Amino acid sequence: MRPTSCEINLAAVAHNVRVLGEHVSPTPICAVVKANGYGHGSVEVARAALAGGATWLAVALVEEGALLRDAGIDAPILVLSEQHESSVAELVQHGLVASVYTEAGIDALGSAVDGTAVDGTAVDGTVLEVHLTLDTGMRRVGAEPGDVAERVAQIAAYPSLRLGAIWTHCPVADEPDNPFTADQLERFDSAVTEQGIATHVGNSAVAIEHPDRPASMVRCGISIYGIDPDDALAGRLPLQPAMTLRSEVTFMKTISAGESVGYGHRWTAPTSTTIATVPIGYADGVRRDLGLRGGEVLIGGQRFPIVGVVTMDQLMVDLGESTCAVGDEVVLIGEQGDEQILAADVAQILDTIPYEVVCSVSERVPRAYVNR
Ligand SMILES: *Cc1c(COP(=O)(O)O)cnc(C)c1O
Repeated sequence: MRPTSCEINLAAVAHNVRVLGEHVSPTPICAVVKANGYGHGSVEVARAALAGGATWLAVALVEEGALLRDAGIDAPILVLSEQHESSVAELVQHGLVASVYTEAGIDALGSAVDGTAVDGTAVDGTVLEVHLTLDTGMRRVGAEPGDVAERVAQIAAYPSLRLGAIWTHCPVADEPDNPFTADQLERFDSAVTEQGIATHVGNSAVAIEHPDRPASMVRCGISIYGIDPDDALAGRLPLQPAMTLRSEVTFMKTISAGESVGYGHRWTAPTSTTIATVPIGYADGVRRDLGLRGGEVLIGGQRFPIVGVVTMDQLMVDLGESTCAVGDEVVLIGEQGDEQILAADVAQILDTIPYEVVCSVSERVPRAYVNR
């Protein structure tokens, strides 16, 4: 087998959930495990998060929730967007909690559940919990704040639907100095107070920034993986990164000054140097331009630059005067000796966010689960 793997420390996930739980106590933690647990593995992360004290889970898609149910997980699972009509039956079948915000969406769900009912009563007393999503400034999805009363009444008209919460999402909560979030939360509060229904507003940044805000739960994603939602919030909580992306040196050679490396010969050795080849590439989620932008790896506890373009299955590293051996460990994300490369470091080099870095580790990279 190729010596490339993505190690996930589940003890770190449980630790992070515990830290977040203490920070926002007594508000319950909803662990967001969409997109295969941000690339970490949704079922394993979900179990670790529940062990760490999370009481809710959240996913983006019905099929992601179904996967958790099929693995035997019975915690409440919130689906974060209103789902396409074709997913409604599966959603009901798996007892997922639906987010709703359109008239048509509420009707589709209400009648689907009622469709299984006799005399207007849901079979086996099935009542589906739904959460009403408001758009208070994200401008992605959600009902307008002015439509709350109407939507609440529409939900109430279906005996098979129970409104568990009204919620919203904050687009700039990771910018502590941006006054938008406080304004947005005020708008949200004034739209929902009359309804007397439980609410939740937070992602990780809100959990870190507004720990005392009363809520039925706080939806934590990136932080449970041990990653700060933004550099501005770095180190605010003692989070532990859960992911280590590693490989090994599989080939080495010396090249002469003036020789170029890889496709397009995008890097030319200024002096004679040693080049190590590592079997991980852009098909594994390492961006093709990582080396061109200054990306590094760790070998023998030292940093070395990736040179040339990352190819589909392999990349090249300039060892300079140093030496290593075939079989030596290469760390792309994680710790080695006294050195560390955070997902946030890679994100900064690539002009993106750590969320994208960890989500990009592709299915081809086997996940190895450890507890340490
Ligand atoms: C992804 C997501 C979250 C989690 O956000 P983090 O920044 O990863 O904590 C919370 N709420 C909604 C609606 C989301 O889509």
